Amino acid sequence: MKEVLREDSVVLYKKRKRKQNIIWSLYRNGVTTLPQLADVLHTSVPSITDLVDGLVQENWVSVAATAIGNNGRRPSLFALNPEHHLIWVIDISTHGVSMLLVNSWHDVIFRYQADLFLENSTLFVRQLLEFIMTTVERVPVPREQVSAIGIAMPGLIDEETGLNLTYECMNLSGVSFKDWLTHEFMMPVFIINDTKATVLGESRFGKGQDKRHILSINIDWGVGLGIVLNGEVFQGASGFAGELGHIQMDPLGERCTCGKIGCLDTITSAPSVLRRIKRALREGHESLLQKYAANPDQLTIGEVLKAARKKDPLVTKVLEETGLLLGKGLAIAINILNPEIIIIDGILSQAGEQLTQPIKDAIQMYCLGAFVQKISVENTTLDGNARWLGTHAFVMENLIATY
Ligand SMILES: [Zn+2]
Repeated sequence: MKEVLREDSVVLYKKRKRKQNIIWSLYRNGVTTLPQLADVLHTSVPSITDLVDGLVQENWVSVAATAIGNNGRRPSLFALNPEHHLIWVIDISTHGVSMLLVNSWHDVIFRYQADLFLENSTLFVRQLLEFIMTTVERVPVPREQVSAIGIAMPGLIDEETGLNLTYECMNLSGVSFKDWLTHEFMMPVFIINDTKATVLGESRFGKGQDKRHILSINIDWGVGLGIVLNGEVFQGASGFAGELGHIQMDPLGERCTCGKIGCLDTITSAPSVLRRIKRALREGHESLLQKYAANPDQLTIGEVLKAARKKDPLVTKVLEETGLLLGKGLAIAINILNPEIIIIDGILSQAGEQLTQPIKDAIQMYCLGAFVQKISVENTTLDGNARWLGTHAFVMENLIATY
C-alpha cells in the first residue's frame, strides 16, 4: 500500500512540474502550438494535450486561435488565459506611486497614478493605503480574476518577513505592509526591492534575455545595483545584496542619507547631478540652463535631460564626471561578479551615450583586461517599464512555483 501511495505521489509531482513548465513557457514565449510546446518540454503531443486540457479547466490556459483541418475546426494556438490570474503591481517611489492591473500576457489593463512621494511618515502610509483601497474599488474587474499583488519599492527589504528596514513607516505596528495587504485582500502579496525588480525585468523581457549573468545599474533618486547570477536574481542572505550606492567614493565628500560619508549615491544619483548643476550655475558656468541661476529650485531633472540632448557644455561635463565615477564603482562589481552585460536603467539612462560612454571608459580603465573584452554596456530598451515588468515576473514566478 505504501509503495502504491509513493508511486501515486511521484506521478502527481511529475504532472504538477510539467504543468508548471507549461505555464512558465507560455508566460515567457506567448502564443504557441501543442507540437511546439511538446518540443520545448521534451515530451509527446498526446501528453501535452492532456496537461493543457487540465490547465484550460483551471483557467490558466485558453485557446488563442483555431484552424480548419480535415476533421473540422480544432484549436491550434494556446496562450495563458488573459482574463484570469491578473496581478496588481504597486510601484512605490520617491517621485510617485502607480498601480497597474496587469494580465498574464503582461499587458497593462488599468493604470492609476498618485502624487504620493515615498517618505518615512505615517501620513504617507495612510494616504498610500487609501489610494490602494479606492483604486481596487473603482476597477470593474471581479476580485476572483485577480490572483496576487506585487509591490516594488526602494529600501532594504527582508523578503521573507516583508519588513522594510529603510522605510520603517511601512511596518504598521510591527506588521509588514505585505502581511497587512495579504490579510486585507485575502490573496498572496509579494514585495521586492525596486532595483531587483528592474534587473529581473531586464533579464526576462529586456536586454538581459538569453544572458545568465547580468548587472543593471539603476540611477534614479539613488544608485542601486541589480544582480542576476545563473539566471536568478541574487538577493544575498537577507535580501540586501547590491547596495553599490553606499560604497565610499570620496572620503571627504558629503554625508549620505545612510549616515556615512562620500557614498557613490552622493555624487552620482539624479539629485546629486541636479545639485552639482545648480551649484555650477550659481558660480556662473556657461550653460543653456543659465536662466535658472537666479532661481535654481525651479530646475528639474527633466530640464537637465533636455539640455543634455542639446549637448549643453555644463550638463555634458557633469554627466561625464558622473559616468566616470559610476564606471569606477561598477568596475569593483565587475571584477567580483564577472557579468556578461551591464544595463543602464533609471531616469539618468535617458542621457544615453553622454552617460554610457564615460561609464565604458572607466570600466576600460579600472577592470582587468580579460573582463573588458567580453562585457557589453548597454542602455535599457524597456523605456521605464523594467520595474513593473520585473515585479510582474517576480509575482508570476512565485505563483508558478506554488502551483
Ligand atoms: Zn550611503
